Amino acid sequence: MNVYDGQRIASMLRGRGYTQTDNYADADIIILNTCAVRAKATDKVFSALGRIRAEKKPDALMGIVGCVARESGADAFRRAPELNFVLGPQSYHKLPEILENPDARLFNIDLGGLEKFDEMPQMDASPVVAYIPIQEGCNHCCTYCIVPYTRGREISRPFDDVMRDTVHAANTGAIEICFLGQNVNGYKYTDEKGQTYRLSDLIRATAKLDTIKRIRFTSSYPTEMTDDLIDMFRTEPKLLPFLNMPIQSGSPNVLTKMNRPYTLDLYIDIVDKLKSARPDVQISSDFIVGFPGESDDDFNQTLEIARRIKYINSFSFKYSPRPHTAAALMPNQIPEKIKSARLYELDALLNEIQREFNESCVGRELECLCDGADKTGKYTIYRTPYMQTCIVHIPTDAAPQIAKIKITAANKASLRGEIIGASEL
Ligand code: SAH
Repeated sequence: MNVYDGQRIASMLRGRGYTQTDNYADADIIILNTCAVRAKATDKVFSALGRIRAEKKPDALMGIVGCVARESGADAFRRAPELNFVLGPQSYHKLPEILENPDARLFNIDLGGLEKFDEMPQMDASPVVAYIPIQEGCNHCCTYCIVPYTRGREISRPFDDVMRDTVHAANTGAIEICFLGQNVNGYKYTDEKGQTYRLSDLIRATAKLDTIKRIRFTSSYPTEMTDDLIDMFRTEPKLLPFLNMPIQSGSPNVLTKMNRPYTLDLYIDIVDKLKSARPDVQISSDFIVGFPGESDDDFNQTLEIARRIKYINSFSFKYSPRPHTAAALMPNQIPEKIKSARLYELDALLNEIQREFNESCVGRELECLCDGADKTGKYTIYRTPYMQTCIVHIPTDAAPQIAKIKITAANKASLRGEIIGASEL
């Protein structure tokens, strides 16, 4: 979501004659696009501001947008008096106001919901992978999560608006569409005629667009994985066989305290249904270790479920107490040392499972999408249908955008492959 917000902001400023620079000393405006999900991310923003202040031109405008703006509110100006603007995740469309009035301080952390989508100009051109937000906010209120506070209650965008953005992306360079929402599979929009649209309707309509070859969506809440959506994995070959469906913990106790009221049986049942719709479907998850009250036994159940589901790619985090959340006030907060040890153990297991899956791909032929140069510029990075990184030894300017690749080697982090033909998609 932050990558998308950043692209929108960059496009909006290009429309006003700005170009992008990586060099603080050259910039006329410096924008920190921020995440507040864990305390570390928030702290980084304020230490970065200090460093940037020393490097920037004295009259350059500087400000923060995104969830830290909303989390800190006007306090941000106290912590960093040099800030010119503080704009929340739903008000960054107001950024041009600071260009018109650079001596004022611009502050807006309202939760307007969908207003920004109507007020911003269309993206100038689409990246190859187009992120299309279909929903803002979240109603689940997991007790650890600051998102309902920073991004507000859940609102689904009108179906026609989403499709207008999707068609625009398809016409301006997109090959892959990634639908975005904090609770993306809960998408539900009823129009004035009373017709209700779900994520499955968006996928079906998008699959009809010729230039779009791949479709995915993130992030999904387990119990919102309705049958119509599961069925898309059976009927729409453009939908990637890969799904991020965070389980967070394998302990029913902890899940209850997290306010994630699903049973492991239900979760496993959803995975089984997905696999029967499309046998090669693979799942990724997010995990939180060291949630308040998590015992060794609770943690072992998390290891167990990770082994059972065989997540091919995961993000795991130490629980971080956040303001405006219920879990921050819960008793039995877990000491940092235990959180670190659990994270280490979980990561070792997840890496092992990921390596096994990567190795099982050697010899397969996969349709992959080009994702640019690697750091050295000598090789090209592709993304497999399971979103693995696949390195191909060809210069990026000679690399086809989409190609059939034979996987020749694998390790934990990535695959190696050779292009064996043009894409058949
Ligand atoms: N609904 C979004 C949430 C974004 S946050 C999604 O599913 O992607 C991404 C991940 O950060 C969450 O899935 C969770 O695993 C983790 N997270 C959220 N709040 C956290 C906290 N207080 N401490 C540690 N990790 C957290």
